Amino acid sequence: MLYLVPTPIGNLKDITFRAVEILKEVEVVLCEDTRVSGKLLKHFGIETRTFSFHAHNEHSQLEKWINVLKEGQNIAQISDAGTPGLSDPGFLLVRACYENDIKVSCLPGPNAAIPALVMSGFPCDRFYFEGFLPQKKGRQTRLKYLAKMDCTIVLYESPHRIVKCLNQIKEHLGDHKQVAVCRELTKLHEEVLRGPIQNVIDELASRNSIKGEIVLVIN
Ligand code: SAM
Repeated sequence: MLYLVPTPIGNLKDITFRAVEILKEVEVVLCEDTRVSGKLLKHFGIETRTFSFHAHNEHSQLEKWINVLKEGQNIAQISDAGTPGLSDPGFLLVRACYENDIKVSCLPGPNAAIPALVMSGFPCDRFYFEGFLPQKKGRQTRLKYLAKMDCTIVLYESPHRIVKCLNQIKEHLGDHKQVAVCRELTKLHEEVLRGPIQNVIDELASRNSIKGEIVLVIN
């Protein structure tokens, strides 16, 4: 069995009882970064062996882990934070499991997108998850695509690019748009900047520096 196990996005108390239980029970934990996850596992007294499995080795290591699963061992995959597979490694191993008749289970748990969507106060009956926009090539194409959406949009953006990104959104989607910049979710300095896009741009541009992790929600 392959378990996809969500881990906290900032507040360690957000791990679930079942996540701890599964991480203790499995034979192997595949981590995006063993040093990052090592701290988390230590905090919860989890002594399961860890191996690195990330964007740069997931293709070359795929067969090895599929064979381990076929031998009957249970594996949990985790990422640095949040739900594996969501703008993080996960999809390749899941697909390979189905191709090899190996059972897959994803535990519900922490992720940045859904709390941001709900906190935004914009309609969340239908939404589109963009993840990260491409940084250069293909960015314009994605922005044009987003301009046609008729539902709430959720995307991940870095603090260095957020103002530039908001200006591009304004250009492509219109200056009537309302946005919510959800920053440092579940952490001490959690905040939501919400309102007409130009007001949010002005507020962010007036700050000396913008730090932390950000989810951008567009109404
Ligand atoms: N797998 C993760 C998830 O389930 O949400 C996402 C991983 S992606 C590599 C990292 C991005 O998620 C960050 O750049 C940011 O956009 C968003 N993110 C992660 N933690 C966050 C937090 N505490 N507050 C706001 N955004 C966060």
